[in-house]
Amino acid sequence: LIVFQNVWKTYQMGEVQVNALKNMSVKLGKGEFVAIIGPSGSGKSTMMNLVGCLDVPSKGKIFLKGRDIAQLQESDLASLRGRTIGFVFQQYNLIPGMTALENVLLPLEIQEVDDSIAEKKAKELLDLVGLSDKLQNKPSQLSGGQQQRVSIARALACDPEIILADEPTGALDSITGQEVISILYRLWKEKNKTVVMVTHDLHLAGYASRHIQLKDGEMIRDIPNEAQINPETSGPD
Ligand code: ATP
Ligand code: MG
Repeated sequence: LIVFQNVWKTYQMGEVQVNALKNMSVKLGKGEFVAIIGPSGSGKSTMMNLVGCLDVPSKGKIFLKGRDIAQLQESDLASLRGRTIGFVFQQYNLIPGMTALENVLLPLEIQEVDDSIAEKKAKELLDLVGLSDKLQNKPSQLSGGQQQRVSIARALACDPEIILADEPTGALDSITGQEVISILYRLWKEKNKTVVMVTHDLHLAGYASRHIQLKDGEMIRDIPNEAQINPETSGPD
């Protein structure tokens, strides 16, 4: 689904070059639930921005659904990205003046989905994340966990195959964080989404099926998680 071939990302800071990613080659397959872990500055967000085609590599190639993204026109890339990837951010990035429902409707309106279909879809998605009673609440009238659930519903609006989440629980306490991860888990398990998340919380990484560990821009570990946690069978601790 996503292939990195000898990918480098170098930032130029004045005279200094920072190699945020060094010669990374990795395949992320359909239906995986990947946790990317590693210390601050190790290149996790850089990797996510490349996976999400929000940025381009300095060297090397990235393939999304078999297509070399460097060969695509900006408009084709934008549409491939829009149909394939949903983003969840640490700070939710909801629009403050809009209700939960309007926030989820937004990507559907951008895709020019018919109003009544869009409304039905947005309500279904908010129901899926357990917020059918909060449709008319603005972000300021929702808890952090609820805002993150709205942002997950919004990420799902255009039926992406891949959900990318960079520290989705970074702004949440641990119980609320587990609720949010449980939703990502269900999307992976029941809706066959490919989920790639960054987390510094090793417990939350336990919900993923694969662990990729970065250090100084290099992948130092890439292992299946033999002890994957299933939130349905494990209570909160
Ligand atoms: P954190 O856990 O703190 O979010 P991270 O693993 O996500 O860290 P990155 O944001 O990917 O780390 O940064 C990797 C390296 O690249 C760091 O040394 C950082 O300073 C540098 N870097 C990231 N973005 C830029 C940028 N836009 N310009 C210059 N340097 C950058
Ligand atoms: Mg980061």
